[in-house]
Amino acid sequence: MKHRIVVLGAGYAGANAAGRLAKRLHPADTEITLVNADPEFVERVRLHQLATGQDPRPRALTDLFAGTGVQVRIARVTAVDVDRKTVALADAGEIAYDTLVYALGSAAADCGVPGVAEHAHFVAGKQQALRLRARLAGLAAGEAVLVVGGGLTGIEAVTEIAEARPDLEVALAARGGLGDWLSEKAQRHLRKAFDRLGITVHEHTDIAGVEADGAVTADGRVLPARVTVWTAGFAVHPIAAASTLEVSATGQIVVDETMRSVSHADVYAVGDAAFAPGASGAPLRMSCASGVPTAYQAADAIAARLTGGGLPENKIGYTGQCISLGRRDAIVQWVTPDDRPKPSAVTGRTAARIKEMICRAAAWSVAHPTSMVPVRRRHIDPVPVAVSA
Ligand SMILES: Cc1cc2nc3c(=O)[nH]c(=O)nc-3n(C[C@H](O)[C@H](O)[C@H](O)COP(=O)(O)OP(=O)(O)OC[C@H]3O[C@@H](n4cnc5c(N)ncnc54)[C@H](O)[C@@H]3O)c2cc1C
Repeated sequence: MKHRIVVLGAGYAGANAAGRLAKRLHPADTEITLVNADPEFVERVRLHQLATGQDPRPRALTDLFAGTGVQVRIARVTAVDVDRKTVALADAGEIAYDTLVYALGSAAADCGVPGVAEHAHFVAGKQQALRLRARLAGLAAGEAVLVVGGGLTGIEAVTEIAEARPDLEVALAARGGLGDWLSEKAQRHLRKAFDRLGITVHEHTDIAGVEADGAVTADGRVLPARVTVWTAGFAVHPIAAASTLEVSATGQIVVDETMRSVSHADVYAVGDAAFAPGASGAPLRMSCASGVPTAYQAADAIAARLTGGGLPENKIGYTGQCISLGRRDAIVQWVTPDDRPKPSAVTGRTAARIKEMICRAAAWSVAHPTSMVPVRRRHIDPVPVAVSA
C-alpha cells in the first residue's frame, strides 16, 4: 500500500509543499492529495488589488497540478482527527492519511471589537475582497473610506484605495505611529507617499467599535466613514485547535524547526497555520515570506524521514519587508533574519518593481509546482528510518 500524504490548503504554503513532495518522493510508493476549498489558487498578497478593481490572473488548481502526480481534491475541510488519522470533508466523507501537512492559512481577525463582523469590510479573503470591490465601486466622489490597522496589510490597502480612487476621502487609523517599526528612511518615504495620495492618518488611535457609518475610538471620538476596512490582524481557522494537536494561544499548530507538530509526529504545519520558530527562536510572522520556506522545510523533512536522507538544517530567516504603496511606489525595508529593520531601504519605483517581481515569483512557484526543485524522487525506505527527531 502506498504512503498517503494529504496536504490541506493550496495557498502559497500548501501548494509549494505538495509540489516539492512530488519531486522528492517516488510515485510508485507515495500518493499525494492536495485538498482545497476554492478551485482556484488565490493570490492573497494581491487581494487589495482585487478589491480596487484589478483582476489577478485566475489559475485553476487542477490545471496547475496536471501531470505532477499530485491529486487535487476540491472540498472544504471541516475537521481533522489526528488520533484516527482522518480528515473530514464537507459533503464528501473522510480521507485517511499517513502523513498530514496542515496549511489552511488564516482569515481576518475581528480582534473582539464590537461591530467589526457586522459592519466592516476585509481584504483577507477573496470573497471579502470582491464584496469590498463592489462597495467601493458604488461610492460617490467625496465619500469617506477608513482603513483600520497600521500594519503591512493596512498600509497596502489604504494606499491602493487612495491611488485607485483619488476622488474619495481616504483615512487610516493606526494604533501606533505610521510605520513606526520601519527605518527612518522608510518612514520618511511612507509619510511622503501618504501626503501625495491625500491619505489622512489617525495615529495612536485605538478603534473600540465599528458602526454602519464609521468607527468609534477608545477615547470616544467618531471617525465617520461610508466604508470601514478592517485589517487589524489575521486569525487561523479553528480546525487545529478543535483537535488534540498542541496549538499556541493563537490557535496555530506548534511545530519544531522541521515544521513537524510537537505533539503528533505524523502531522506537519506550514504557512500561517504554523507556530514555527524563526531565526532567533521567536515565532515566524504570518506572511507569504514565511509560508514558502516553511513549505520547503516540511517537504524536505518528510522526504528525509521517509527515505532515510538527511534532515534540512537551514533556519528560516527574513531579508526584507516589501510594502506596496499603490502600483508605482513601494518600500523594500531590509531586515535582519529575525525581522528587525536595518537602516537601509529601497523606495519608489525601483521598490515597486522589486515588490512586483516577488509577488510574481511567489505565484510562479505555485503555478509551476514541481519546477523549482531538481527531480530527486526517492523510494520510501521499507525499514523504519533511523533519522533523529
Ligand atoms: C491584502 C494582503 C496583502 C498581503 N501582502 C503580503 C506581502 O506583501 N508579503 C507577505 O509575505 N505576505 C503578505 N500577505 C500575507 C500572506 O498572503 C499570507 O501570509 C499567506 O497567504 C499565507 O499563506 P498560506 O499558504 O499559509 O495560507 P493561504 O494563502 O491563506 O492559503 C490557505 C488555503 O487554504 C484554503 N482553505 C482554508 N480553509 C479551508 C478549509 N476549511 N478547507 C479547505 N481549504 C481551506 C484556502 O482556500 C487557501 O487556498 C498579505 C495578505 C493580504 C490579505
